Amino acid sequence: MSFSDPKILELIKAYRPVWALSRSGALLEWDVEVNMPERASESRGLIMAELALIGQERMKAVYPILQEASSRSKNLNDDEKGIVRIVERLKKYYTRIPPEILEEEQRLAVEGTVVWREARKNSDFNRFKPYLEKMLALKIKEAEKLGYEDNHPYNAMLDLGEEGLTVADMDSMFSRMIPGLKRILEKVRASGKFPSEHPLEEIKYDVQSMTAVNQKIVDSVLNMPKDRFRMDTSTHPFMTGTSRDDIRITTRYEGVDFRNTMYSVIHESGHAIYELQLDKKLNYTPISHAASTAFHESQSRFWENIVGRSMGFVTRVKPILRENLSFVSPYNDEQLYMYFNLVRPGMIRVDADELTYNFHVALRYEIEKKLFAGKMTVGELPSLWNETMSDYLGVTPPNDAQGVLQDVHWSGGSWGYFPTYSLGNIIGGMIWYNISKDLDLGELTAKGDLAPIKAWLYERIHRWGAIYPPKELARRSLGESYNPERLLQYLERKYLGN
Ligand SMILES: [Zn+2]
Repeated sequence: MSFSDPKILELIKAYRPVWALSRSGALLEWDVEVNMPERASESRGLIMAELALIGQERMKAVYPILQEASSRSKNLNDDEKGIVRIVERLKKYYTRIPPEILEEEQRLAVEGTVVWREARKNSDFNRFKPYLEKMLALKIKEAEKLGYEDNHPYNAMLDLGEEGLTVADMDSMFSRMIPGLKRILEKVRASGKFPSEHPLEEIKYDVQSMTAVNQKIVDSVLNMPKDRFRMDTSTHPFMTGTSRDDIRITTRYEGVDFRNTMYSVIHESGHAIYELQLDKKLNYTPISHAASTAFHESQSRFWENIVGRSMGFVTRVKPILRENLSFVSPYNDEQLYMYFNLVRPGMIRVDADELTYNFHVALRYEIEKKLFAGKMTVGELPSLWNETMSDYLGVTPPNDAQGVLQDVHWSGGSWGYFPTYSLGNIIGGMIWYNISKDLDLGELTAKGDLAPIKAWLYERIHRWGAIYPPKELARRSLGESYNPERLLQYLERKYLGN
């Protein structure tokens, strides 16, 4: 299949300037994080806002062609229908939300993020509360403009972040997953097999030596293509790119506890492998990107946790670690494996391990859902947060900085985004379940032969880009709709040997 319908070809052509502008914006954002001198932030903000406006202007030329193309949908193949579907989603976002709301949101996000930083520093929730209330009110207005299913405004937010995702989906997944996770976590803690602390956490590393380790991991372990991929340093690790031939990741060096930077590299490389393996025929079209946010996260989590935290990976990476980090020498494979897989219920989501991570997301999901349904007030947030943490993980944050104020998302206007992290883990579990039928992951990883794993992911996930909606891709490529049991099976196998 490819593109042959004349209206679709016209649509792709009209969309191309929008694509070019958006990719230029991505490159400018990369530059902000990696290279830009501090004082340039004001002019950079202006440049990016103007580019975004030109993009929206050019988008208007696409709509009339879209209408004609979509009226021909009977004659279109799957690839072409994918184009129509994705451009319709873009149109919905840009035409239903009045520009005043988008502008107000942008302004509030900038201001709110500054206040949030200050509030977090002083652990002062009340300082942040009025901004949170304003942002929530604005988001509810946005939901009303977008429209939503099942009388639940939060569904509009979920669908924005993840096509077709609903409260009913997430309720059904979490209600099965949380009791299962609790059961596994209790057993693992009781068995004492996986420690909660390790001496390597305290060991300082030399940044140059660690940079060499990370470079070897991307070059010779993950085999990232040198002529289409690069790695840099930034405050917060991320992945971006301009096309499948220009994909970039970043990492950060904290100077201590080397697994953090190593796993951020593997995580972001997982995102990168997805983009590098999109089908060439989709290049520069509206569907030359991942199926969804959660599918993207499923790839990063798969490489980070299922491949990267396996015994096979320890075998593969140990010579590189020993060669560059002398302090690793006293530890054998089993001890390194434990260091990479500590199980420690804690306060902070981004520090959470595989077994506890999804509790942090479930908590945020429940709060967002209640706030959008008007079933709680912003003022009730800190107490609900602390009670739920104690119920889920048996820990109570000593202050709001380590509790309700820890994430940047809400101040920046990202509501409905957290659930995609857990859905990404769930899809990762489904991939593990399916790929294990065809390949011996542990053996291939230990041998350093990752090509068959990449080929499998290409065939089932990567090549399809956004041709199909995420729910349909899950059914087609992983044989069922979102099923948290697979993730639980994976965790039981790994942590309890079942
Ligand atoms: Zn990620």
